[in-house]
Amino acid sequence: MKKVISLLGSTGSIGQSTLQVLKLHPDSFQIFALSCFNNTHLLVKQCIEFQPKYLVTKDTADAKFVREQIKGKSSAKVLSGSDGYEFIAGNDEVTDVLAAITGSAGLKSTYQAAIKGKRILLANKESMVMAGSLIMAEVAKSRGSIIPVDSEHNAIYQVLINHTNKFIRKVILTASGGPFRDLNASEIENVTVEEALNHPNWSMGDKITIDSATMMNKGLEVIEASYLFNLPSKKIEVLVHPQSIIHSLVEYEDGSLLTQLGCPDMRVPISFALGYPDRIRSGVEGINLAQCENLSFSKPNHQIFPCLNLAYEALEAGQSHIITLNAANEIAVDAFLHKKIKFTQIYILVRKALDSIKSMDFNDIDSIISLDRNARKKAQQTLMDI
Ligand code: MG
Repeated sequence: MKKVISLLGSTGSIGQSTLQVLKLHPDSFQIFALSCFNNTHLLVKQCIEFQPKYLVTKDTADAKFVREQIKGKSSAKVLSGSDGYEFIAGNDEVTDVLAAITGSAGLKSTYQAAIKGKRILLANKESMVMAGSLIMAEVAKSRGSIIPVDSEHNAIYQVLINHTNKFIRKVILTASGGPFRDLNASEIENVTVEEALNHPNWSMGDKITIDSATMMNKGLEVIEASYLFNLPSKKIEVLVHPQSIIHSLVEYEDGSLLTQLGCPDMRVPISFALGYPDRIRSGVEGINLAQCENLSFSKPNHQIFPCLNLAYEALEAGQSHIITLNAANEIAVDAFLHKKIKFTQIYILVRKALDSIKSMDFNDIDSIISLDRNARKKAQQTLMDI
């Protein structure tokens, strides 16, 4: 039977890579829906090529534009806004939801897929960061599942397939270290947006590329791993591995260290998630181990990358801190991308946000969204002062 897929965020980097893989397997998958945030031109192109039943855009004006563009070329219905994203995430026809919307905008649709018991191919780490326990509880209730697409978590998932997490001594998330791995404190003060966007190993969207440069991405991944694999922060370590060949490791009680290796190409974890439990072609070559002369590992430099510490701190402090960390980081990264603040001020903005928050726990999605909005507003105000 064909898997029926909704792609939330089909025009982003993960969405485009997913469509490349799906193209290799026309008999195994049916594309139910595609969606975009801003890139309506690409959405139109994708629609004409892949002929989904539904498209979703961010608002009615974009929906109108897309309807006009696909007239006579596709019979897809065009929806818009959060109702549209939730409709394609939870529709009864859909078996698999690729959650690849960037940032906290992906939360509600991921949550909807969890409630409806879908197989969630999770690339939107922010939804797990913001509402990890709620989403995991809904997935358990609805008998759905989550297969992480984030390469590190995908590696750990592959290692854990035949094990429970009971015998884990620790997991090690590997990090490339980003473009500024070897800079000192004064050099990192003056890096530019262009330099920060120039990731040495991975080709990704702007937000995650900046997060990689600050190593906040690895911090968010520590939080994501904690929820996905039900592990305390002290059992999650980060090691810098500049070659990005080993995608994370699991150490068991007996001292065995297991891992998954692969080229740094997101089509590998995407194919695993799409095909699971089968293995399908990704279009990516294997690694030539004879040419891997040097696979190196080192501890991250916490002075140069203080954002990593903030994530551990927030994970220890609890949900309100985690939500605030994520919200303030999104505001800070956006400000940096628009050249309103310096690279090192991303940390300062998130630090200030965490210093002003009280501990609270949340049992419903609307309270999480409301704290996220407040944290954003506050971070915007702080931005005026720095
Ligand atoms: Mg990752």
